[in-house]
Amino acid sequence: MMIENPPAEVSGDVLMLGTSPYPVYLLKGEGAGVLVEGTIGAMGPMVAEQLEKFGVPLGYVRRVLVTHAHPDHVMALPMFRNLFPGAIFTASELAAKTLQVEKAVGFFAKIDGMLTESLLKSGVIGERHRPTASVGATIPIDETVVEGDTIETAGLSLKVMATPGHSDCSTSFFEPGRRILVSADVTPYYISAHDYWWPNYFTGYAAYVASMERMAALDAEVVCLGHTATIRGADEAKGFFQRAMAATEAYHGRIVSEAKAGRPAADIANGLADEVFEKLPPLLPLDFFQKNCGLLVKQSLKHAGVATS
Ligand SMILES: [Zn+2]
Repeated sequence: MMIENPPAEVSGDVLMLGTSPYPVYLLKGEGAGVLVEGTIGAMGPMVAEQLEKFGVPLGYVRRVLVTHAHPDHVMALPMFRNLFPGAIFTASELAAKTLQVEKAVGFFAKIDGMLTESLLKSGVIGERHRPTASVGATIPIDETVVEGDTIETAGLSLKVMATPGHSDCSTSFFEPGRRILVSADVTPYYISAHDYWWPNYFTGYAAYVASMERMAALDAEVVCLGHTATIRGADEAKGFFQRAMAATEAYHGRIVSEAKAGRPAADIANGLADEVFEKLPPLLPLDFFQKNCGLLVKQSLKHAGVATS
């Protein structure tokens, strides 16, 4: 089953909060919980509201896990600091380092401001969800983790896996006892209304596919995606990963064959950007997608050893 409309109880152990494009997860442990995803600023006030609705006291959240340092995965952290003053904020070493770079955080804040305005305009959020916490020059992380670490917290045992390809700092977490997988942006951005997959191998095609294969082999019962949905059920998870991999290979194949047919790289990228842009709600400008599709074309051609024109 694909759960796409938070807030929702995914299972006895997992709450899906936030909104469909920007979900946040609460993993329930023994007497305390772990909040997963740093998400966008506007989800700060929304998550507070949703926790209250589910009767979860703010003090229950003892840890906040960050999957990677992209603007749509870290900008609620300043608000989460205010909401959960006792919580430990955890991210990969690489992500923590990026969040110490003032220029990066400044750029993230700009994108976040744009997202707040367009979400307000589209009615997905209300004025009360406008982020109130001021974002500092950097976003501090308390504890860093690397591949092979296990985070033991509230009876949960979260295995840390470096899963690069989407970003160099991408990190996934797996709780083997409860078979809960936090897979971040390891799989394509899935738009169910159009059954459309937008692969996001911004930093490496081969690494992205390898990370996806590794996630698929875990046999998770619940897969907490970085965007749009949660998958519940081992068979559904398996099917989801299979389709995600096939879609990624097809997307890559398309780029490579168009380039081999002589279509200029920028042209391919703009075509792909138009395609995804028209399927998504208008949250970000077209040039955001052109830039990102440009990275996909670059990575595909690099992987295939095709010279760019
Ligand atoms: Zn991302």
